[in-house]
Amino acid sequence: MEWFTLEQIDQQTVAISEYGHWEKVRSFLLIGQKEALLIDTGLGIGSIKEVVDRLTDLPVRVVLTHVHWDHIGGVGEFDNCYVHPLDREWLEQGIPVWDTASVRKELMRELSQPLPAEFDISRFELFQGRPTGHLLDGMVIDLGERKVRVIHTPGHSPGHVSFIDDNGYLFPGDCLYSSETPVYSNYPSTSPQDLVMTLEKLGNQPDVRRIFGSHNQLEIQVSSQELLASVNYLRVNDLVRHGTGLHNFKAFSLLF
Ligand SMILES: [Zn+2]
Ligand SMILES: [Zn+2]
Repeated sequence: MEWFTLEQIDQQTVAISEYGHWEKVRSFLLIGQKEALLIDTGLGIGSIKEVVDRLTDLPVRVVLTHVHWDHIGGVGEFDNCYVHPLDREWLEQGIPVWDTASVRKELMRELSQPLPAEFDISRFELFQGRPTGHLLDGMVIDLGERKVRVIHTPGHSPGHVSFIDDNGYLFPGDCLYSSETPVYSNYPSTSPQDLVMTLEKLGNQPDVRRIFGSHNQLEIQVSSQELLASVNYLRVNDLVRHGTGLHNFKAFSLLF
């Protein structure tokens, strides 16, 4: 059984999911005419590079929505990676709280699929290293006949970014995904204020046609109106702060 589940969104866009682990984390490959973009690199249990190599011969640019252990597992397999400056320190110096031992434990929890034969948890190390370059708000990555715009979307982490391409596909990383698990904004390194501003920013993006989550279900069924209404609800009820707990909306939930 393959560790990764591939779902073809269209001819040039593939979701690469890890349903065998309880987090159901997902990376995305966006293929252009001259370059391909890999959004996140998963848990590091299977070789995501092997999967990507099967899907495209083009040079692959690796971009990280944010530097959390469940999205940077395969970074070391590639020769480049781009990150927002505000998450850069975690890539270079490690993520607060998450050392290799605690990540190893987390990786082995609630597995519903056999691990790849070549994977050895005792050899797993959390990636640490210098990024090739930065992702900044408004930056446009041209893949050749396909443009992808970077949106700075802090809250879940300070340097979190989302991506929107010219098909109207929005990839909001860990700012927005379906409600099997909440969007976490309850850690000291998170900011409910920033996350709510981020949801407002995403709700105000023009031309969003489809939204693809980095955890849980592939596609999130939420309209701009619903997003903006939830932002308004949280603000009006003075809920935008740490300690206010779980907030459930129709398509997603938030944990402050
Ligand atoms: Zn995260
Ligand atoms: Zn995540």
